[in-house]
Amino acid sequence: MSAKTGKEYVQRLKEAKNNVYIHGEKVEDVTEHPAFKNVIRSMADLYDLQYEKPEKMLYNSPTTGNKVGVTFMEPKTVEDLIKRREAIMEWQRYSGGLMGRSPDYLNANVMAMGAAHQFYAEGDPMFAENAKKYAEYARENDLSLTHTLIHPQINRAKAQYEQKDANVALHVVKKTDEGVIVDGVRLLATQGAITDEIIVFPSTVKKAGELDDPYSLAFAIPNNTPGLKFICRESFDYGRNEFDHPLGSRFEEGDAIVCFENVLVPWDRIFILENSSICNRAYRETNAVVHMAHQVVAKDIAKTEFVLGVALSIMDAIGIDGFQHVQDKGTEIMLTLEIMKSHLYRAEHQAKLDRWGMMTPDYAALDAARNWYPRIYPRLAEIIRILGASGLMGIPTQADFENEEIGALLNRAVQGKNLEGYERVQLFRLAWDLTMSAFGSRQTHYEYYFFGDPVRMGMTYFNNYDKEPFKQMVQEFLKRTKKSKPNFVKA
Ligand SMILES: Cc1cc2nc3c(=O)[nH]c(=O)nc-3n(C[C@H](O)[C@H](O)[C@H](O)COP(=O)(O)OP(=O)(O)OC[C@H]3O[C@@H](n4cnc5c(N)ncnc54)[C@H](O)[C@@H]3O)c2cc1C
Repeated sequence: MSAKTGKEYVQRLKEAKNNVYIHGEKVEDVTEHPAFKNVIRSMADLYDLQYEKPEKMLYNSPTTGNKVGVTFMEPKTVEDLIKRREAIMEWQRYSGGLMGRSPDYLNANVMAMGAAHQFYAEGDPMFAENAKKYAEYARENDLSLTHTLIHPQINRAKAQYEQKDANVALHVVKKTDEGVIVDGVRLLATQGAITDEIIVFPSTVKKAGELDDPYSLAFAIPNNTPGLKFICRESFDYGRNEFDHPLGSRFEEGDAIVCFENVLVPWDRIFILENSSICNRAYRETNAVVHMAHQVVAKDIAKTEFVLGVALSIMDAIGIDGFQHVQDKGTEIMLTLEIMKSHLYRAEHQAKLDRWGMMTPDYAALDAARNWYPRIYPRLAEIIRILGASGLMGIPTQADFENEEIGALLNRAVQGKNLEGYERVQLFRLAWDLTMSAFGSRQTHYEYYFFGDPVRMGMTYFNNYDKEPFKQMVQEFLKRTKKSKPNFVKA
């Protein structure tokens, strides 16, 4: 098969009849349901874009020769890495970086899993073969994927096996000739309702000990596997038009709690089984986390460009661009953008071939970027709020403008320096949906927790950082002091 079109994506979802629940009801057809149909249309647009820009987004499959997505391509050279990122950017610019789990994110994950499949042989040679075949299968069928890494949030002070009801979490129940029966809950599958398959992997951040082996596994199954249920949070797409909710009506990906009720995972879909040690090392040693971070930094750049565009448009619209503090806030966003671009440049141009044969970006550059962006993104949202002020609440709807009694009055009342009232409100509704609506608030929360808990990511970063040269530098400086310790303070 080749890369899929938007139509094929929708058709597959329609036929799969995945077990999706929302607002207390089972969803018959996600492609028709108000909570999902708009974001499904956006996802379909992404898949169609592959055929609108084939020179950027498609390449010849190494196994079948078919045209498949560049976001699945194993990079062998720096040029390949750049080609991957340019394809990623095409998708990211479509949504202004607002679809955090667009297919490129997990395509990077499975691509690295396939290239580094030998890593999984440590558990069983069959698991390496499974990883290789699954990556090929995902690429050749252009699977859309969701993922879940986190155990339920019961008592974070205890290991999984110590929890008062330890089997709430996804765990191995038994092994049969067909495969492994698993049961329990995982969090939090963004796009769970609108994808073909789920990959269950360990956390990239939280490490487990041997007693957590029953909870330590990695596998992939179709979302319509019997016993698998996606329980979605309430939708932030309120069914309003694109003027009223410009982002929520297009890019509401949805987040789901995933329940496995005695689900059979076939043997050929298992990558890690009951092995906390392999789980703890999987993302780092396969370099999957590096290729995912490469995608994430590209996404962050597209998102920052979009935020900057909104901030500058607000400045123009209400004539505040000449004020010193306003310019300084614009500068903060510009600096964020340029710093992220520098991280990306360094990551790509200092890339090296890894032991699996993948051209792998410089992790230090990406690790710094992925630790920094969650800390800075809430500030970007805050800047939009500070600049927009009352304009973010003076936001009548499309229906108000259409009302014959008040429409013309409104258009005059809410005019801006360079915009008619209708266009000014359109812009400010965008700024509101980016930062303050339920959709916008989730974006800020999402960015903070995108790659894991930033506090623990920061602790890991601190612990792994090579601190000695800096301490040494200071020691050598101190040694150059021409004074010596006075006799009376000598021990
Ligand atoms: C919008 C959104 C979408 C998401 N989408 C996905 C997805 O698609 N797939 C997926 O797998 N996951 C997803 N996640 C989950 C995400 O990976 C987690 O939120 C993240 O890893 C943090 O884990 P947690 O939520 O369990 O936080 P917790 O670990 O429960 O942390 C809660 C608080 O306690 C503190 N804390 C807890 N334990 C410790 C400790 N040992 N030391 C110090 N502090 C501690 C944390 O710093 C934090 O402040 C999503 C999350 C959000 C918010």
